[in-house]
Amino acid sequence: MTVANNLTQVHQQIRLLETQYQRPQNSVKLLAVSKTKPIEDILLAYEAGQRAFGENYVQEAVDKHQQLAHLPDIEWHFIGAIQSNKSRLVAESMDWVHTLDRAKIATRLSEQRPSSLPTLNVCIQVNISQEASKSGIVLEELDDLVEQVLSLPNLCLRGLMAIPAPMNSLAEQIEVYRPLLEAYQALQSKIKTIDTLSIGMSNDMEAAIASNSSMVRIGTAIFGARI
Ligand SMILES: *Cc1c(COP(=O)(O)O)cnc(C)c1O
Repeated sequence: MTVANNLTQVHQQIRLLETQYQRPQNSVKLLAVSKTKPIEDILLAYEAGQRAFGENYVQEAVDKHQQLAHLPDIEWHFIGAIQSNKSRLVAESMDWVHTLDRAKIATRLSEQRPSSLPTLNVCIQVNISQEASKSGIVLEELDDLVEQVLSLPNLCLRGLMAIPAPMNSLAEQIEVYRPLLEAYQALQSKIKTIDTLSIGMSNDMEAAIASNSSMVRIGTAIFGARI
């Protein structure tokens, strides 16, 4: 299978799931997760029309951004953990951050965002399975972090993101997403910039689209397994 064929298949699957779960057509955006994959793979996806790419590792993201600077319509999404000492690189090169979970990092990203760039789009990461090992805030902490992010001039709060623990059935996967969906809808009713629920990976795309995902983050199904 080629990257272009895989992309076509994933798009078809998304359109079918939108229909199946009564979601408007094209309401689910595809983020192609290219972490660990070479520039050539990103270019194949780009030639097939893909524009939004997700990266997990700061140095790799910055390097790819630089190598592809001649393609300014690529939208770079950072979906990995951000250490304080790496926040500047993220603020200077990314269009989106999906993994915001600390006020300190939010403040740094806003301060370090170059004035020549538009505001940095951010999603707050929620640890919905409440796994000790995962990043993300618990929902009880959401209102405080939202308030802090809203006070920062160079960030634009777009929504919420989560990576659930693996579950055995579709029903269980949907159940785990339910509190997140409620929190998202509450935010949306209060804040006009909220339009992004970043949930769904290769193995739980159906549950995510059933749960109102507006952006699925797909790596393996597009680029193949990572070694
Ligand atoms: C790697 C990764 C993905 C993509 O996972 P696949 O299973 O390859 O689709 C999505 N989101 C995050 C945060 C990731 O780290």
